[in-house]
Amino acid sequence: MADSPNHPIRTIAIDGPAGAGKSTIGLGLAKHLGFLYFDTGVMYRAVTLAALQRSIAPDDEDAVSQLAESLRIEVSPPHVDDGRQYTVRTDGEDVTWAIRRADVDAAVSVVSAFPRVRRAMVAQQRRIAQAGNVVMVGRDIGTVVMPDADLKIYLDATVEARAWRRYRELEARGTPSSYADVLASMKQRDVLDTSRATSPLRPANDAFIVDCTHMDAEETLAHVIALVEAQNAARAGAQARSAVATGAPEDDA
Ligand code: C5P
Repeated sequence: MADSPNHPIRTIAIDGPAGAGKSTIGLGLAKHLGFLYFDTGVMYRAVTLAALQRSIAPDDEDAVSQLAESLRIEVSPPHVDDGRQYTVRTDGEDVTWAIRRADVDAAVSVVSAFPRVRRAMVAQQRRIAQAGNVVMVGRDIGTVVMPDADLKIYLDATVEARAWRRYRELEARGTPSSYADVLASMKQRDVLDTSRATSPLRPANDAFIVDCTHMDAEETLAHVIALVEAQNAARAGAQARSAVATGAPEDDA
């Protein structure tokens, strides 16, 4: 967390492995606080889908990197009421659902490991983060994208619990897969995301680790909201103490 704990929390980083519930919790928290919600995973997915659409092999580092550097990715509030959290467009095409396809799942961790791809995505993410009042969700938000985030949360759960949740999501969406396949793909993504050389998935040193294996989404959100409130109360207390110590008027900026 930042060194100056005397303003309310404005930037929140949520990291963690696939299927931990980061997007549900991130969106719920952003709504609760009136903050912007930004899911960085969609950007890596959008590059991966665009590569597949252009018959670029996901492991062709040069071609994929060039694509990432030139592709126009837009993430905006949902323009269709079909259960989406946002609309994602690449070069104007609505790819919101297509980026969730199984072939994208299978290739995205290869694409996201390329340093030039990451550089291009992180630059855009930092621009969004600069405005503040944001909940940003991903793998490297607390470690790389917003290392000075006011609050960092690392949302974790066992791989079995995460695979089960993802399996049920796919089923509900009418695109079922077997639990064994979902589990295998999730394990593979965990290995790739945690072992890559550039920005591997790991909790920031100052992150709060929230294990939601035995909590449902509602309980996890309540837990995270309580965490934000406790941090804000501590910040307000620190500000009041420093105002008393210096005789300065309290500043609620
Ligand atoms: O969060 P989601 O599962 O949609 O992310 C898809 C993939 O994008 C992850 O498995 C990871 O490889 C990559 N990713 C990343 N850094 C982020 C967000 C996602 O490398 N900040």
